[in-house]
Amino acid sequence: MLTFNDLIVAFEKLGLKNKPVIVHASLRSFGHVVGGADSVVTALDYTTGSFIMPSHTYKTMVTPVSGPANNALNYQRGQQWNRLAEPFQHNMPADSLMGAVPESLRMWPEARRSTHPILSFTGIRAEKILEKQTIEEPFGPIRALVELDGWVLLLGVDHTANTSIHFAEKLAGRKQFIRWALTQNGTVTCPGFPGCSLGFEVIEPDVRATTKTIKVGDASVHAVPLRPLMVRVIEIIKKDKYALLCDRPDCERCADVRKS
Ligand SMILES: [Zn+2]
Repeated sequence: MLTFNDLIVAFEKLGLKNKPVIVHASLRSFGHVVGGADSVVTALDYTTGSFIMPSHTYKTMVTPVSGPANNALNYQRGQQWNRLAEPFQHNMPADSLMGAVPESLRMWPEARRSTHPILSFTGIRAEKILEKQTIEEPFGPIRALVELDGWVLLLGVDHTANTSIHFAEKLAGRKQFIRWALTQNGTVTCPGFPGCSLGFEVIEPDVRATTKTIKVGDASVHAVPLRPLMVRVIEIIKKDKYALLCDRPDCERCADVRKS
């Protein structure tokens, strides 16, 4: 059993007190945490300079009847899901795929959320980072974190949850996709949509030397400095244009990256 105080004592060892951080978390990975996701947010608030988490909202996505080819999208098949889409609203819950912690963060009085209708981020003391997001550059906040010598914090998750690798893929020239989102003002075209992350864990040995790892309850916690991560991802994609793609035969996004 862990209390928020146990989490604070543990996270302090990572030395991120004055650093900007992007966090990805599995609450369940810790074992029992008294106070649940709120305790994780409290501990992050105490032990980082500022932090953001993805609070993406996939249920805003709609598929047009036609669109660009090689976009990892079956336009015809996508039509059947359109009636389930909901327009983005600022208070829309983070997708359950993100886990419980971003949703807890979103409810925090000091938390601010960016306005991208699919790929929003939510953070504390991170207004200047969040405002770098535009429709054209959904990963602008990650660019800002790199420029500020920020860190990625993986709480009980591996690099398949590490959104920053998508930004490095883009910098390496990898194909990006186009998606569409419902908003209060109609449908918005969202370029710069990332590929698949299921193959990302192969980066782990390459960044191990710069990564700080601790055990907190049952969870492995990794703090990864962003700059060397970006450099390494770009290097390996330049060397092998299929690097970090997944092996699933039915993965449309990885298939279209291979084709591009
Ligand atoms: Zn894939």
